Amino acid sequence: MSQSQHHAISKNLQDVQARIAAAAQDCDRSSEEVTLLAVSKTKPASDVALAIDAGQLAFGENYVQEGVDKIAHFAGHQPPLVWHFIGPLQSNKSRLVAENFDWCHTIDRLKIAQRLNDQRPASLPPLQVLIQVNISDESSKSGITLAEVPALAAQICEMPRLQLRGLMAIPAPEPDNAQQLAVFKQMAAAFTQLQLSHPQVDTLSMGMTDDMPAAIAAGSTMVRIGTAIFGARDYSAATKS
Ligand SMILES: *Cc1c(COP(=O)(O)O)cnc(C)c1O
Repeated sequence: MSQSQHHAISKNLQDVQARIAAAAQDCDRSSEEVTLLAVSKTKPASDVALAIDAGQLAFGENYVQEGVDKIAHFAGHQPPLVWHFIGPLQSNKSRLVAENFDWCHTIDRLKIAQRLNDQRPASLPPLQVLIQVNISDESSKSGITLAEVPALAAQICEMPRLQLRGLMAIPAPEPDNAQQLAVFKQMAAAFTQLQLSHPQVDTLSMGMTDDMPAAIAAGSTMVRIGTAIFGARDYSAATKS
């Protein structure tokens, strides 16, 4: 591990925190309303360790086995790390998520919710879950429509081993800030609506490296940032699982 890489990740984290603070200030929000999730997919545990050294405790992973390996690597860390599963989830991988992660952002069908509820070990707190909404990306198979949210939310609330915390979205890439904002505002409206029937709902997960300010302006409470913290990803070396 080179000294320069060490400084890069910790400086990048500071820069991202400063950008979160600036974006929050621009819309009269407190930066404390926005949690930074460091997305470490495809990155080695040594990079995660550098981020932890810099004070980062919440991490997002997309690939089940890669995430489980990192969770095992850092098991017992104090203060505790919080691991969020943010990738597409196949049924045959749900047990690993239920047994290892703290959060799952990508609930988009009843069957997956039921499996996670059945498989969540009694020794752990309930799995914290978000419903993934397909807000604008017609090419993606992940996520449900806004119209389908209330029914799935009601079903999840019947499941004792899951705790519904809110909504998540990955909008289609869109270079224009005003267009990004318009899409994120639809999510924020749905989030406010969901809170009326489910007051415990407190998390709106949206905003990545290229659309973070618009997400915060619309009301995001959790931004998922990879590239701006860890640098560009090399997918050829990634464990796809
Ligand atoms: C990869 C990924 C991110 C991070 O994206 P960056 O553009 O690198 O910040 C956030 N959310 C999800 C669901 C991802 O898959």
